[in-house]
Amino acid sequence: MNSLSENSDLAGGRLTVDLGALADNWQLLNQLSGSGECSAVVKSDAYGIGIEQAVPTLWKAGCRTFFVALPEEGIRVRKAAPDAIIYVLAGYLPRTLEIYRDHALRPVINDEINSWIEASGKDRLPYAIQLETGMNRLGMSISKFEALQASEVLASCQPDLVISHLACADSPNHPLNEMQRAEFQKTVDRYVCKNTSLANSAGIFLGPDYHYDLVRPGIALYGGASAEDHLQNNPMRPVICVEARILQVKSVLPGSSVGYGGVETIRPSDRTAGRERILATLSAGYSDGYLRSAGSSDTQSGAFAAWRGVRVPLIGRVSMDLVTVDMTDHPDIDQLMGDNWQDEWIELIGPTVPLDEVACSAKTIGYELLTSLGTRYHRTYINDL
Ligand SMILES: *Cc1c(COP(=O)(O)O)cnc(C)c1O
Repeated sequence: MNSLSENSDLAGGRLTVDLGALADNWQLLNQLSGSGECSAVVKSDAYGIGIEQAVPTLWKAGCRTFFVALPEEGIRVRKAAPDAIIYVLAGYLPRTLEIYRDHALRPVINDEINSWIEASGKDRLPYAIQLETGMNRLGMSISKFEALQASEVLASCQPDLVISHLACADSPNHPLNEMQRAEFQKTVDRYVCKNTSLANSAGIFLGPDYHYDLVRPGIALYGGASAEDHLQNNPMRPVICVEARILQVKSVLPGSSVGYGGVETIRPSDRTAGRERILATLSAGYSDGYLRSAGSSDTQSGAFAAWRGVRVPLIGRVSMDLVTVDMTDHPDIDQLMGDNWQDEWIELIGPTVPLDEVACSAKTIGYELLTSLGTRYHRTYINDL
């Protein structure tokens, strides 16, 4: 997606995407996957970072197979990587054969096998089948798959890939992981499947039994935590940094409140001998995907931000375009005084305040925060291969 703001002087927020970190993350996942092929899931505009930038970098890193949610995303991937293999997870949508054929998109068929074979039959276009093994979201039942195999409907058009998706891979000890793996194994053992795939990012970390012929990481490529223990200790490199411009620095007396609803009251500060707190109001808000649920109040602390690598707490609610942070205890606060705060930017997500920490403060997951980042940021892509 193109940034609305081409000039960072005109922008309230800036989003820096480290394509070198994206490539490193793919390399690490590729190594962890052993002999299995490592693909890349680039649905939802590559989890918000931008298909047009992410896909060429991943291709240069060595990635050859991509997954998207919808055919239109597939068309964008095709332009960015003309020789890639591209799978569409939504499957085959009625009356769209020319799109799949002209852009060489491969549907991941869930139930609509008859309409796909009817439409594509004489062309024998490549496709995949997704099997239902316990998540009960998308996928063909094993009994339907077995009936298809028995009826020889697939005799002349076997799928090029058979996949399933894990529901609980982020919890390594969840019993559903092994149940789904066993169900998948049993089925792919019974038929000649050209290629098989089970693992998302978290599934890769479950170990070699889960890797099969191809793995499908998404969130880990973009630096997000995929397994529970990655919240503390994430082996992936951060890919995005979000910063917001300071619009005003002000002193506010104890007893006053900050922002909509007056939900957070200023407490006295030791630093200023109880006199005041120094707040900075920043040019980003929930309209930029900095979720309202990350806000702070008297009863619940919110997310942190950072300036020069030192963390500062949010104070009050997140507004549409604005958020306020408490700078009082920052060691360099004197350097913001006068008009010196102009041209200063505060980190909202990045090396000091990780994506998953902000997501946690906003009571959600890194996936939602990433895919919510809006279109107003001035975007910069660095360290491309
Ligand atoms: C989104 C998705 C993935 C990637 O999942 P992550 O948890 O982001 O690694 C893999 N497979 C399917 C079917 C998906 O829908």
